[in-house]
Amino acid sequence: MTGTVLVTGGAGYVGSHCCKAFRDAGWEVVVFDNLSRGWRDLVQFGDLIEGDINDRAALDRAMAEVKPDAVAHFAAYGYVGESVSNPGMYYRNNTMGTMTLLDAMMAAGVDKLIFSSTCATYGIPDKVPMTEETPQSPINPYGWSKLFVEKILDDYGHAYGLRSVKLRYFNAAGADFDAEVGERHEPETHLIPLAIQGQLKDGFALTVFGDDFDTRDGTCVRDYIHVMDLADAHKRALDYLQAGGESNVFNLGTGTGTTVMEIVEAVERVSGSSVERSIGPRRAGDPPALVASADKARDVLGWVPQHSDIDTIIRTAWNWHQKEANRPLVKGL
Ligand code: UDP
Repeated sequence: MTGTVLVTGGAGYVGSHCCKAFRDAGWEVVVFDNLSRGWRDLVQFGDLIEGDINDRAALDRAMAEVKPDAVAHFAAYGYVGESVSNPGMYYRNNTMGTMTLLDAMMAAGVDKLIFSSTCATYGIPDKVPMTEETPQSPINPYGWSKLFVEKILDDYGHAYGLRSVKLRYFNAAGADFDAEVGERHEPETHLIPLAIQGQLKDGFALTVFGDDFDTRDGTCVRDYIHVMDLADAHKRALDYLQAGGESNVFNLGTGTGTTVMEIVEAVERVSGSSVERSIGPRRAGDPPALVASADKARDVLGWVPQHSDIDTIIRTAWNWHQKEANRPLVKGL
């Protein structure tokens, strides 16, 4: 049971991979993206409508033109540090922009939404693995901007009949197996791309943010999930809503934690050369360990990660970044 899906933020990292999975499953895909942080060349699996989620008229036009069965909503800012220094920008785009999108959907009679949420809504958990019932207490405006949306989705569900699936990602990582799309952030702040780029570019050394955490090797533990596994979960969530499923929420992770040093070792294994690095201070607000319980997504959506062993993640990311190394970074291309 497929149809047409409007994908906001489909020119970004997770969005572009999901577009590929939707297209491959038989969905008609239309991307809605303002290209402020997305990339035109990552839109390959459907048409692009250039527009901003804060622009109600543009959204109304897109709804009328596309007549989507569902919306998959990825458009958001995603830098924790930037959200601390510029919270208004995050609440305006991530929270208010989503309300504008929801209002346009309601006016057009579009009642199904997949929402990109995040483990940042949990803050610093008391214990891992974290279930969907783990208390949510964000420690930065980015996490709050997403948690507010989660609440708004519940309320729009009760008031207007919106059905939504909230997907709380842990650490999205890796790239498309064909390297047609991949991870491209400007600036790049994430561990795996930085560890790889350090090997592809001269003069860059990775800083490991703290080695005195209470973990097995002193570095932070995260739950890295392959972006194509994330994409598969989104496809399953669309199917679930198309089949009449009620609003729901799922963690998307593997249940297995990996330390920063284990990532560095995996990059060395895959590339065959050593990663230049030094140990730096802890980064403000970094929880020692974030690991998902993904049992609910398995039980309800039948989702089991297939590609999230660390070497597959690093190998696909490595292939993508090698391709990227020759590409001039020109915004909007
Ligand atoms: N990290 C690091 N050096 C870097 C970037 C990240 O040591 O240059 C660590 C960071 O402290 C965290 C892990 O790598 O423990 C993953 O960070 P990332 O920014 O990739 O994702 P986050 O977990 O913050 O969403």
